[in-house]
Amino acid sequence: MNRATEVLDAFENIRRAQRAGVYAPHKPLLILLALARVQRGEPRLVEFTAIDGALKQLLAEFGPSSAAKSRHYPFWHLATDGHGALWNLSGPREVLKRPAGATPSLGELREQHIKGGFPPEIDEALRHIPGLLQAVATRVLDTCFPGTLHTDIAAALGLDLDGPTVLRDAVPVAAEYTTTERRRRDPAFRERVLRAYEYRCCVCGFDLRIGHTPAGLEAAHIQWHHVGGPDIEANGLSLCSLHHKLFDLGVFTIEPSAHRVIFSQHAISGDRGTAGELQFHGRRIHSPQHTDMLPAAEFLGWNASNAFKTPARRVERTDRGAAPGAAR
Ligand SMILES: [Zn+2]
Repeated sequence: MNRATEVLDAFENIRRAQRAGVYAPHKPLLILLALARVQRGEPRLVEFTAIDGALKQLLAEFGPSSAAKSRHYPFWHLATDGHGALWNLSGPREVLKRPAGATPSLGELREQHIKGGFPPEIDEALRHIPGLLQAVATRVLDTCFPGTLHTDIAAALGLDLDGPTVLRDAVPVAAEYTTTERRRRDPAFRERVLRAYEYRCCVCGFDLRIGHTPAGLEAAHIQWHHVGGPDIEANGLSLCSLHHKLFDLGVFTIEPSAHRVIFSQHAISGDRGTAGELQFHGRRIHSPQHTDMLPAAEFLGWNASNAFKTPARRVERTDRGAAPGAAR
């Protein structure tokens, strides 16, 4: 095994330690942030305080609700994953010798000036093997985040993913390992989901075609594919590119029984009228061709608790006065 493969494997092992079906963006975002620092040529170790603001912002944007509150956990716990193969800490001995489970508070990490970073040999390899850093970053993105968010995450971090491609040939072992490890996507999923919803966005009805080909229309996984979501209609939604991204960002979710579109209270739009995004709040999605194809409560439940940014906006009662004897 060459050096590049060893480094790729060290990162791969961290990912595999995550529980199946759970979306936990904390560690991967910290790793990506650290990779961006290495790419910019910054020192190996960094004080928690120096990256705290950036971590908070990243988790608020790309994580589920309340993720930002535990943003200091990976900074501490990554050091014990894989017996410290991927992350080193430095600081006062009385803090560092604590048991792994005794996570210091945010305040302690700041006041004690705790520093963290990749171990010297990994840092060295990332800085000197052409394309390795990009290969690691791409793999972390592929295995931890939905595809709609990759470009935005990289842009938010200032991470340049276009590196030399020589590595693909240099690490055949790692490439093979990844191919067998990853779940394959069913190429027919997109077509089946779009057809189920008659080739339109089930939120806004967008249905543009170029000739006969739908444009800007995507099949979204409700429970993301990379966390075990299956390629079946009941786990799919036909969404325009905008609504696909908003859905993956947790800006809105869909109620498991009434199938109404529910926006997050964190979603703010200046235009509250019929042209604004919030016009869709509280509306039922366009139904698929058959009730069998409706999104399943199991997957919508996953989405609501893993991706959606709670709390939900309330739905105004629009049928006020319609029921006989309604109080006035
Ligand atoms: Zn749409």
